[in-house]
Amino acid sequence: MTQPTPRRKIIPIKPVADPDSKIYPRSITGLFQRWRWFFVGLTQLIFYGLCWLPWNGRQAVLFDLEARRAYLFNLVLWPQDAIYLAILLTLSALALFLFTTVAGRLWCGYSCPQTVYTEIFLWIERQLEGDRPKRMKLDAAPWSARKAGIKFSKHGIWLLLSFWTGLTFVGYFTPIRELVASLSSFSFGPWEIFWVLFYGFATYGNAGFLREHMCIYICPYAQFQFVMFDRDTLLIAYDTARGEPRGSRARNAKVDDNPIETKTDIKPAGLGDCIDCSICVQVCPTGIDIRNGLQLECIGCAACIDACDEVMDKMNYPRGLIRYSTENAVQNRLSNAQIIRRALRPRVLIYLSIFLVATTITAWSLLTRLPLKVNVIRDRATLSREATDGSIENVFRLNVTNASETAHVYQVQVAGLPGLRLAEPVDIAAAAASVGSTTLVLRVEPGAAKAGNHPIQVTVSDAANPSVSITETTKFIVP
Ligand code: SF4
Ligand code: SF4
Repeated sequence: MTQPTPRRKIIPIKPVADPDSKIYPRSITGLFQRWRWFFVGLTQLIFYGLCWLPWNGRQAVLFDLEARRAYLFNLVLWPQDAIYLAILLTLSALALFLFTTVAGRLWCGYSCPQTVYTEIFLWIERQLEGDRPKRMKLDAAPWSARKAGIKFSKHGIWLLLSFWTGLTFVGYFTPIRELVASLSSFSFGPWEIFWVLFYGFATYGNAGFLREHMCIYICPYAQFQFVMFDRDTLLIAYDTARGEPRGSRARNAKVDDNPIETKTDIKPAGLGDCIDCSICVQVCPTGIDIRNGLQLECIGCAACIDACDEVMDKMNYPRGLIRYSTENAVQNRLSNAQIIRRALRPRVLIYLSIFLVATTITAWSLLTRLPLKVNVIRDRATLSREATDGSIENVFRLNVTNASETAHVYQVQVAGLPGLRLAEPVDIAAAAASVGSTTLVLRVEPGAAKAGNHPIQVTVSDAANPSVSITETTKFIVP
């Protein structure tokens, strides 16, 4: 029989440390730390590298605001394709719901730019100032030439990295090679200067100073994601039943193989597995104590897992006193197989189905999208008139967008009224990724249609590939 599940308890924001006091996270090694660095490397390789990747003679990914088009590898998107941006944002929101419901704060812990840059800045800080005790000592020490030199070097490297980050960001909107070339000749445009400095200083401020405050007090995702959590969401959990009562003891204190059931009988002084060393608190980048339960400040970085596993190894206790788990699993001692089964709960399956259907439709729509856009606009200055040969004439403006990266010749055909014809054949030569327009003069013989508005079709086809063809409907006016 399923047991009634108690209400989830989330401890409200109440930082362990004074919010103004600086946190000095201790360095840590271990499995999850290696995974974090893997994601730091991967995300930064993509961010710093992708803008340098050439593709079809231009930048693979470029949002060319001046030309009002975006290049994503083979895709060329125009302002008319803004719908794809809206769909992409919707899909991202759906993916976020799905991911957060299943995996909690994995994004925050491993791939969020705030976490990633804080990790990089912290690494630089450690190389110059040392680990936690040395950094604390240096900050407490009075100013000296040595301290000034270390601080100056640290901030210098941070600023250089931040500036390069700002430059890379702008390089997705202005071709990066041109940008770097203009850097050497100091010929940046005013907007480029603004955004390089803005993004650069945002990186410097966020990763160098704001750090955990961004996650705890500013990030909106952190504030609302707990709504998506339930008792089967993956989180970092301290096993209270196994760890408590906590307390220090000699390293060789006796421990049995089944500490949860019989710890009070066998362990010295009736202690749990937590030796109260506080290393899990010292490595925490937000300065919290995970042993107090699920907290909004926990960004799911898993540093406390690595730290505690190391302590457990030294004590010869089983690993996993702090571990990835779910509230249900910790309380009801669920196995990994049970955790995975519960991960596929109805709510997750619904999110997953919607996400997969929406992604498939979007991908299909993008892949089958024609590299041609056509717009027929009536010439409002000339509604309808009699031509020199006695026929009835309507004039239109035909706009053609060649959304591919090769030049094309397009042919125009018209239909919809008996004898409807072009006053003269129209062939449109369109350069690669260009927009062009021409005047369309259409005629019918008098008496071909009665007076009024008649729907007609204008078809524009690629001369070399007639399957690339678009038909637009407009109206022909017979006076
Ligand atoms: S690192 Fe582990 S043993 Fe040490 S205080 Fe934290 S939970 Fe207890
Ligand atoms: S409690 Fe653990 S997982 Fe959460 S932020 Fe601190 S170190 Fe990271």
